[in-house]
This record gives sequence, C-alpha cells and structure tokens, in this order.
Amino acid sequence: MTLVVADRARLASARQSLTGRMAVVMTMGALHPGHAALLQQARAEADHVIATIFVNPLQFGPSEDLDRYPRTLDADLDICRAAGVDAVFTPTVDVIYPVTPSVRIDPGPTGGILDGASRPGHFAGMLTVVHKLLRLTAADVAYFGEKDYQQLTLIRQMVRDLDMGTEIVGVPTVREPDGLALSSRNRFLSPAERERALALSRALHACPGGTAEEILAAAGNELKGVDLDYLALTDPLLGPVVPGPARLLVAARVGTTRLIDNAPVEVH
Ligand code: AMP
Repeated sequence: MTLVVADRARLASARQSLTGRMAVVMTMGALHPGHAALLQQARAEADHVIATIFVNPLQFGPSEDLDRYPRTLDADLDICRAAGVDAVFTPTVDVIYPVTPSVRIDPGPTGGILDGASRPGHFAGMLTVVHKLLRLTAADVAYFGEKDYQQLTLIRQMVRDLDMGTEIVGVPTVREPDGLALSSRNRFLSPAERERALALSRALHACPGGTAEEILAAAGNELKGVDLDYLALTDPLLGPVVPGPARLLVAARVGTTRLIDNAPVEVH
C-alpha cells in the first residue's frame, strides 16, 4: 500500500513505522519513465522507498518556469504505486519553508560553472531542499538521475563535505528510442522543436571516444541549429578534462524550453 502524506507529522509517523534500509527518490512531479527507473532501482535495493514530490521555488530564478512547471499529481501517484513505493511526501511550500530560509547551502566552486553560471542561485536552492528532504525522510540512501549530472555531483560533494552519511546512487539517463533524454519539460516542445531537440543527444553521441578536440568538434557540428548555452568536456567530477573517462555536457534553448543533457565519453 502506498501512503500519501503532506505534512511533517504524518511523514515522521510513516517513517517511524518503516524499519530497515530506507531509500528516498526526490522529484518535482510530472513523473515519466526516467523517474520510474529511479523508483524501481530504489525498490529493488532498499527495504522501503519514500518518493517526494515538491516543486522547489528556491531553485527557480525570477525569469524561470516555476509557474508553468507541469503538475500531474494523480498520474504521479499511479506511477509511485506501480513502482511499489511505500510513502509519497507531497508537501506544500509552507510545509517545507514555514519561513523563507536565511541559511542556504553554498554549492562552492562546482556550483558556479555550467548551469550554475546560467542559473544564479539554482544550486544553492537545490542543495538546500535536498538537505532538508534527506533530514525529513531520514533516508539511508538517495537515488538521483545522471540526467542532472551537475546536480548529482554537487549532492555527492555536499554529503561528503557536510558528513551527512547518506549513500548517493546515480542512475543512468533514460532516453526515448530516438535518443532524446526524458524530461518533464519535453511536453513544452512542439513537434518541430522536438525534432530540433534531438541535436543534443546526437551531439553527445557523435564521437564517444577521441581527442578532446575531436569530441568537441563532432558535438559542435550537431548543435548548429540550436540556441546553445554551453557545450563542455570535463573530467567525471566536472574538473578540467584529462585523458581517460570524461563527461560531455550540453545545455540549449529550443523555443522557450531550456534543455540539458550529458553523456560519458573517453578522451584519448
Ligand atoms: P526532476 O523531477 O526533474 O527534478 O527529477 C527528479 C529526479 O529524476 C532527479 O534525480 C533527476 O535527475 C531524475 N531524472 C529526471 N529525468 C531523468 C531521466 N531521463 N533519466 C533518469 N533520471 C532522470
């Protein structure tokens, strides 16, 4: 049975009744098979799973899409039930932020590059809510998608640097058959924009192994038709690229929708 709870007291009492290893999967709702993959892996690896559905205003800039962010709670709950989730936490903004927090988590230098450069305050807002939800759910392990690779990297750094002790598991990106990474924001794409959006995944897979110059040139070639925010090649921890396993990351605007994607590559 899947319990749906919206306030702290009911979450705490649900949490108390669930003994054993507890997993959490944090989402902003509008769930799709990418989220389901996280829920299913958590279900398979932990004794219990709590999903959270909360659109976190703290991580949206003033000109971003907070107001138009899709909300599909009934369908989301069906996906959580199908995945065998024990409890879904669906708090309102007031429950998470009884007062606007004056203390926020500083994401440090890794939070200032890539998406952090384009979205000031985004990662501080994200880390602050992740910290709060880890505390409120008292989870032993948390599952996050590699789709948001910089987010995953920063959460690992926060847990390490603040001695939080939670295990963080990264789950590979789930894609449409044609390569497009699943995202709650894909629903905003018109058919023509969706076609143009394929440039992102094509760019990431254009040259899976080669010199840094070859990888960047092959990717750049695919991105000529989109409004590129960044294309970056880094080491797996988002530091300067060196020969060996690396990460290729891209962000672009297609119409009014900002999309991000990334993939592992091998630098020779
Ligand atoms: P969101 O609701 O978009 O904030 O995402 C909630 C979680 O689902 C995050 O850990 C995301 O990285 C993850 N996620 C979103 N899209 C995908 C995808 N296509 N494949 C795997 N994980 C995903």
